[in-house]
Amino acid sequence: MITEDVLVVRDVSYKENDKILHVISRTRGKIQLMSKGSKKPNSHLVNVSQIFAYSKCSLTFSRDMYIITSAELIDNFYGLKNNIDSYYRGSYILELISYVAQENEYDYRIFDMTVAVLGYLANSVENLDKLVAAYELKLASMLGYKPDFVHCISCGKEIKEDARFSISEGGLFCSDCVKYGNGINVTYGEILTLDKILKTKFENLSSIEVNIKSMNIIRKFLFYYIGRDNFTTLKLI
Ligand SMILES: [Zn+2]
Repeated sequence: MITEDVLVVRDVSYKENDKILHVISRTRGKIQLMSKGSKKPNSHLVNVSQIFAYSKCSLTFSRDMYIITSAELIDNFYGLKNNIDSYYRGSYILELISYVAQENEYDYRIFDMTVAVLGYLANSVENLDKLVAAYELKLASMLGYKPDFVHCISCGKEIKEDARFSISEGGLFCSDCVKYGNGINVTYGEILTLDKILKTKFENLSSIEVNIKSMNIIRKFLFYYIGRDNFTTLKLI
């Protein structure tokens, strides 16, 4: 018997009464679970077999398939269903994580951060885009693409002024080194903001002012490193 925390990113109808759940698991990466009988309204697996369900599952492994024997719902992020703006952003988070997650490869920090941001999206009516931007930047960083917003990547000097941010180089060029790199001109204020977003927890984001330009830089940065930018749910945001 295996116990695993999972987040359902997709539920697919299977045979008359069953579902196959595509989930992100905390310690096994992206896996599929057979949820037997979960289409029956009185099934004890109804709640844990829906998209956005975050639960603790007991599993057996049989014939190349994980089968749920019992499960306890931790959260279904119900608030997402009451606010279409939160719902679309939550759907984008699921599409993103389901793209970057791999089978049998995991990073529990990414799993924990994903359920955390869904909780904030479900319970907030403002700061939604800021939450998504912070998730995108932290995700890039956890995937191994952590930008340096403090030093010039060419001469190493600490940046204290307007500079140029290069997505492909993953950092800033100071005014002396700007001739060596292509990128986007950013003000010192924007640089401080980007660095704060990277280092601040979701619950403390509300005090940080983030402009659209900075959010666009973050998204371009993430998409450049994960190699994809055509997420379906992004069109809804
Ligand atoms: Zn420099």
